[in-house]
Amino acid sequence: MAADRRRILNFHGVGEPLRALEPGEAPYWLGVDRFRAVLDRIVDHPDRDRLSITFDDGNASDLLIAAPELQRRGLEAEFFVLSGRIGEAGSLDKDQIRTLMRMGMRIGSHGVAHSDWSSLSAHALQHELGTSKAALEEICAAPVQSAAIPFGRYNAAVLRALRRAEYAVAYSSDGGSSATAAFLHPRTSLRQDMTDRSLEEVLSGNIAPWRRLRRFAGMTARAWI
Ligand SMILES: [Zn+2]
Repeated sequence: MAADRRRILNFHGVGEPLRALEPGEAPYWLGVDRFRAVLDRIVDHPDRDRLSITFDDGNASDLLIAAPELQRRGLEAEFFVLSGRIGEAGSLDKDQIRTLMRMGMRIGSHGVAHSDWSSLSAHALQHELGTSKAALEEICAAPVQSAAIPFGRYNAAVLRALRRAEYAVAYSSDGGSSATAAFLHPRTSLRQDMTDRSLEEVLSGNIAPWRRLRRFAGMTARAWI
């Protein structure tokens, strides 16, 4: 694998959810012990320098559980926040977002309302991308130039709109490895039922061809991420 390629692991909530979950969301919440074990595997992995970590949805567990565990291990992550949920029960509030930044974490946009961007009108898509960016930039007092695409659903119009809204980087949920200089970066979302063997395949980037095929087939049918 070329040295300029990295793998991105994407987490969602950790521990007990403090809000009602969306249909299909529960499998993407990891128990605290499992979360700690995955971080330990990342820290000890020979490819650690090629692994990146992101979190989607702006859950309160980002700060209450995840960030301290990351910090304890010398890890950093990028947190993609839904601007429409800021301050709601179970989600990050403004001060918590700023605290994440002070802890050395980065903040990106996940849009406003967790919509499927590929199904929106041009006007609604512009609102999702522009309003969330402006709100987060005001909170962070810094440019927000990266976006994580909800449910990993995108098309050419979504990518064009992201560039037009002046995002420099976008993240999908397509799995596999990512070129450092690319605009669109695929990520692998971790599920609570992921085996240690599957996790190792993601960390090392060595995915057997038949599993690649099965994953591709699964992508077309996936329900939530
Ligand atoms: Zn999401």
